[in-house]
Amino acid sequence: MSDELVELAKRRGFFFQAAEAYGGVSGFYVYGPEGAALKRNLEDSWRDRFQVQEGHREIEAPTVMPEPVFEASGHLDGFDDMLIECPECGESHRADHIIEDNTGIEDAESLPLDEIGALIAEHDLRCPNCDTELAGEPVEEFNLMFETTIGPGSGHPGYLRPETAQGIFVEFPRLKEYARNQLPFGITQVGRAYRNEISPRKSIVRVREFTQAELEHFIDPEEDEPPLHRVENAEVTLYSADQQNAEDGGHVRMTIGEAVEEGVITSDWVAYYLGVGQEWYERIGVDMERFRFRQHLAGERAHYASDCWDAEAEVDGDWIEITGNSYRSDYDLSKHGTYSDEDFTVFRQYDEPKVVERATVDPDMSYLGPEFGGVAGDIADALQTLAERDRTAFEGDEVTVEIDRESHAIPVEKTGFGVEEVTEAGEHITPHVVEPSIGIDRVLYTVFAHAYETDEVDDETRTRLALEPELAPTTVGVFPLMDKDGMGETARDIAGDLRARGLDVTYDDSGNIGRRYRRQDEVGTPFCVTVDYESLDDDAVTLRERDSTEQVRVAIADLPDILADLRSGDRAFANL
Ligand code: ATP
Repeated sequence: MSDELVELAKRRGFFFQAAEAYGGVSGFYVYGPEGAALKRNLEDSWRDRFQVQEGHREIEAPTVMPEPVFEASGHLDGFDDMLIECPECGESHRADHIIEDNTGIEDAESLPLDEIGALIAEHDLRCPNCDTELAGEPVEEFNLMFETTIGPGSGHPGYLRPETAQGIFVEFPRLKEYARNQLPFGITQVGRAYRNEISPRKSIVRVREFTQAELEHFIDPEEDEPPLHRVENAEVTLYSADQQNAEDGGHVRMTIGEAVEEGVITSDWVAYYLGVGQEWYERIGVDMERFRFRQHLAGERAHYASDCWDAEAEVDGDWIEITGNSYRSDYDLSKHGTYSDEDFTVFRQYDEPKVVERATVDPDMSYLGPEFGGVAGDIADALQTLAERDRTAFEGDEVTVEIDRESHAIPVEKTGFGVEEVTEAGEHITPHVVEPSIGIDRVLYTVFAHAYETDEVDDETRTRLALEPELAPTTVGVFPLMDKDGMGETARDIAGDLRARGLDVTYDDSGNIGRRYRRQDEVGTPFCVTVDYESLDDDAVTLRERDSTEQVRVAIADLPDILADLRSGDRAFANL
């Protein structure tokens, strides 16, 4: 992001580093009044597209979660980045980023640790802080989760969630009840996530506390299909793994439908959400000339994902990941099902009951009890599990089961093994999950950067944030030409009426009108209303549009409806 934009973000209250009075803490940002309003509008717009229009529901789960959650999810073991420390100044760096920043290699994150070490030596890479040679320095895995303790003492470790998703997965047993055990259903969450990033950078792009908007769509992989027809004609820019690996690989333009047909995108569900995502990005003002979907390379995929496409936007020559779109399969629900005592499956009813053969055992406990003592009950359970899994184990004279790493042989005649025909109404399945995971801060950064423009108006350079009306922190600035002869009162009344209509309004009566317009242009206010002397006679005002600087005369009584429609996009300024 250019220096002017960073300065604008600070000066006009969009975002700035936190706790600057105490020197600032790297990776933590504050959204000022304009930024917080922009962020809230962005989140609401996301809710509208990904939740309301798709018929999903939102939950709010805690940000601190106990350790077993992350043992099960794999984050404790696998949520690592590559750390290298400078031997001279002690500064920590992400080893893969040092390679990406200084060589032509694009996705060093996908490479194994030893290769990273070798590349640092081969390219003679140096500490970005003090220019000391890094060759030979150890490259280590660093877990990104912030650890804490729950309650006094250290008996209950907890972690700040590194993604909002786990708060949804862990509650699946209750959520499926809420959904009356019917797939598919989607649960969303907008909330804070925390990652102890090795080196936060690029303002709000890589921070240690950020906001995610995630949708977990639970599906039956065999029965459920997305409404692909709704997005199949959308043209997208794709950067597939094959293209990334090819010598002269580049972007490919095709429709979502073609990408699915040609097997470029393997999951219909992921394809569907790429279409939904693109529609939303366009709606919120991301420049489609600087937007693409990039497929993850095999080594780069998160521990849970079977296919993943990131939405990426270009800002100042860098491609930034703004969304991860993953097919998480049944990974998370299976893990939580195994690690906890709860049931993470749903019952899939057959169209018609099926008659199936089922192997069962009915062990002779009067034999097992005296023979095996305390483990007799465990042996009986193990025999049942084995019968279900492998009938052939019961074909000889003896069958062997293992309890606590000790083998026990049981005569088959004592197991009561048999195969019976039963009628089953359905089966238990573990749902699969499709996940669009949006980083709100990075989207805000992109929207902010793509909206920034300068142009010449009345021989003067003006700075303009061409934010979509739906997102703009303020929808309308209301100005009296001067605060005298009743113009101030009229303007304040108009501001009150517009606020009552639910619009964000700024009232401003200081400085000349041109200056007031510039102030609003700079923070992205799409419309301004000016009350002049004529207004006192004709009950009409001048309504000005930011981007075209066109002005029209509008009756005061019509203003609330007109502005509400302009904000929602139901009416265009050109048609007034
Ligand atoms: P990266 O490779 O950039 O570290 P990631 O692939 O680990 O990101 P995901 O786990 O897919 O990211 O998270 C989903 C989204 O959350 C990302 O697309 C991004 O927009 C956002 N996000 C992730 N980490 C951060 C961060 N440190 N600061 C701000 N946003 C983030």
